[in-house]
Amino acid sequence: MAQATETWMPRDRWDALVRGDDCPLCRACSSRENADAHGYTIADLKICRLRLAINQFVPGYCVLICSRHVSEPYHLSRDEQTRFFDDLMLAAQAVETVFNPIKMNFELLGNLVPHLHAHIVPRYYGDPAPERPIDPDARVVTLTEAQYIERVQSIRAALKRADK
Ligand SMILES: [Zn+2]
Repeated sequence: MAQATETWMPRDRWDALVRGDDCPLCRACSSRENADAHGYTIADLKICRLRLAINQFVPGYCVLICSRHVSEPYHLSRDEQTRFFDDLMLAAQAVETVFNPIKMNFELLGNLVPHLHAHIVPRYYGDPAPERPIDPDARVVTLTEAQYIERVQSIRAALKRADK
C-alpha cells in the first residue's frame, strides 16, 4: 500500500493505467508466484484472484482482484458482474469463518490502481476506527512467512467448505 499523497500522478500515467498499460494488478492476476510485495495468493475463483494482503492491519484483510482489466464494475458484462459478486461473497464468507469479525467492510476504490478490485476488511469490536473505515496506513502490521501461510491455508480450507 503506497503512502497517501496529495498530488495526483501525471495525467498520462493515469490514462495509461486506466487502459491497462503496465498494470500491477494485471500482473498480480497472471503471476505464477505465490507471493509478492503486496500479498499471498489464496485462490483463483470464478473471475477473480483472492489474495491475503501483506499489511494485516486487521487480521484477515484480503484483496479480491478481477482477472479482467476494467476500471469499474459496471464495465463488466452482466454475467461477469454476477461472477464478481459471487466471488466477493464466497471470499468474505470464508474470511468470516476463519477470523470471526463483528462486521465486514467492502471497499471498491481503485484510486491508486484503476483495475477492479475489492478490499475485504474484517472489523473487530474495539478496533481503532469505530463508525468509519480504517486507514490501512495508520498502523502497518506484517507477519512472519509461516503466519501468512497459516492464514492462507485457513482461508483456502474455508473457501472449500463454503463453496458447496
Ligand atoms: Zn489491470
